[in-house]
Amino acid sequence: MSIKVKYISIFIVPDDGSKATKLRLRRPIYRFLTIFFPALLVFMVASLFFWGKTVQVFRENAALRTENAKVRQLALELEQIRVIDSQLRVMVGADLKLSPAVTRATYMLTDSLGEDSSIQQRDIPSIWPTEGRVSSEFGEYRGLMGKRHEGIDIAATSGTPVRATAEGKVLFAGWTDNLGNLVIIKHGNRYFTRYGHNKEMFVKEGQLVKRGEVIATVGSSGHSTASHLHYEVLEDAKPVNPRRFLPRKE
Ligand SMILES: [Zn+2]
Repeated sequence: MSIKVKYISIFIVPDDGSKATKLRLRRPIYRFLTIFFPALLVFMVASLFFWGKTVQVFRENAALRTENAKVRQLALELEQIRVIDSQLRVMVGADLKLSPAVTRATYMLTDSLGEDSSIQQRDIPSIWPTEGRVSSEFGEYRGLMGKRHEGIDIAATSGTPVRATAEGKVLFAGWTDNLGNLVIIKHGNRYFTRYGHNKEMFVKEGQLVKRGEVIATVGSSGHSTASHLHYEVLEDAKPVNPRRFLPRKE
């Protein structure tokens, strides 16, 4: 024979001996309080947490979408700047100085657009551009202006062949006040080479050249006192010492 318990009593007895309180609860209510209520609490905390996460993910997605649109817009504007830039240079015929910001940004974008960004051996300017003695090293300060020399000078007799030091595309072949007849070649995504003071030029803008291909002859055009080749290498839009890539002489 079993007795059905209908009520459960809870005594709350204070430590200081004051009067105890008695809570008399119906059994279903007691059950609710001890089992259902804690479960509900856990459920509520969990849903609050996940809701927070969901909101965060939605926010991040929205931010990413905006960012993507901005990058695309930037790429477009950059392309326009590049076109205007090259048109201007051709019109003005000024000494062609590649705007580092534009060039660097272009590298980054072509990289992010998934073009082959791996440096290939054939893109590295790694042969001597002409036969001769180095008459001025990279980084030397010269003249009244004390301008840093951004390339090396190779003294050679007028008419000595000038060769492309890596495979690439001719970006510029024309007159500039400073470097006279100047050839600029783009090699892959990271390198540019510049060949100044030429006597004759045998390449045109947009032409593809192989390493070792004769592109010009040594001269003394532009700001120059003696027949020599001014040779520059730009890595990620910054002039670097061409000797870094060249086989040692002598
Ligand atoms: Zn020079």
